[in-house]
Amino acid sequence: MGLDRAGALLTIDLGAVRRNWRVLRDRVGPGVRVGAAIKADAYGLGAARVAPVLAEAGCRDFFTATLDEGIAARAVLPDTEARIFVLNGAPPGTDGEFASHRLIPVLNTPDGIAAWREGPAALHLDSGMCRLGLTPDEVVELAGDPAFGARDIALVMSHLACADEPAHSRNAAQLKSFRDMLARLRDGAGPRAPVSFANSPGIFLGPDYHFDMVRPGAALYGINPTPGKPNPMAEVLRLQGKILQVRDVDRPQAVGYGATHRVAGKGRIATVPVGYADGFARSLGNRASGFLAGYRVPVVGRVSMDLITLDVTDAPADIAAPGAVVDLIGGGRPLDEVAKEAGTIGYEILTGLGARLPRVYVERTA
Ligand SMILES: *Cc1c(COP(=O)(O)O)cnc(C)c1O
Repeated sequence: MGLDRAGALLTIDLGAVRRNWRVLRDRVGPGVRVGAAIKADAYGLGAARVAPVLAEAGCRDFFTATLDEGIAARAVLPDTEARIFVLNGAPPGTDGEFASHRLIPVLNTPDGIAAWREGPAALHLDSGMCRLGLTPDEVVELAGDPAFGARDIALVMSHLACADEPAHSRNAAQLKSFRDMLARLRDGAGPRAPVSFANSPGIFLGPDYHFDMVRPGAALYGINPTPGKPNPMAEVLRLQGKILQVRDVDRPQAVGYGATHRVAGKGRIATVPVGYADGFARSLGNRASGFLAGYRVPVVGRVSMDLITLDVTDAPADIAAPGAVVDLIGGGRPLDEVAKEAGTIGYEILTGLGARLPRVYVERTA
């Protein structure tokens, strides 16, 4: 499969995922486990392909959002010692499924803790994000509960709200709040469990944030965990489209829905079969560019469901011709830059990639 038959192609480099995991492992050093967030189908890249590669690299701790994602992950990690944590916890009556698929719920509320009867669980503490997890008061109450000491707690975790802004005062505030809650748990009847705090950008806040395990997602998939600085991660994803038609324009002409772009005089417009149905956000209209054999070719006019139009006037006619391949994300068009042009973040671009796009998995070594 490739661009011979299809007009667009998504190439996913599993070798880059593997290298990214190792970069993070080397960064945190020995003694700190490096887990992997594979929720939302490994950020849209395909958990069935990504998870086994990470397990092979040495990852033993996986995080999904939902029970069904956890069951799917177990099916592709059958014989490994991999632990699979389900971040959204255990819906009522699903204990049996957690047990039979060897999944670990992350318990986020006192009710969730009370309802969970048997088997290992993780505990989520809210250190200041106001999203999931126990409040400091709830931690105090839990620590005083003798029944809690008997629980099999596999991990105590919290999540950072502003780790992608290293100078943000909330990082240190959350660290302090988390440490206070951990101390409360230990002072009380709580068991001594391993601790996890950092997501991808959190890893780069320094060793204070590493504890026993880090939980990257984005960085594994090539998103820059250090915004504003050079990206230390390898590029994983490449979206390419093939020019379907080139229109020679010789008089003023409007392009696309809403006639939002005008070719002033002479020019050439190439049409490429990638649209918002493929996850090429509509907000990229008149904002993004493609990359064609070293030429930057701006997206002009609106993004349609199935098509975009590129101004290829500056590229030689024999290069900007039907069949020529244009890089749209990756390969000269860094994912984070495209996300910025779309007014969003790389996470949303990845998870929004359309099911229609043909996919090829490769394993490049560098
Ligand atoms: C998604 C998620 C992560 C991974 O975050 P990245 O920023 O993608 O590294 C870690 N922990 C929790 C609780 C999450 O929801």
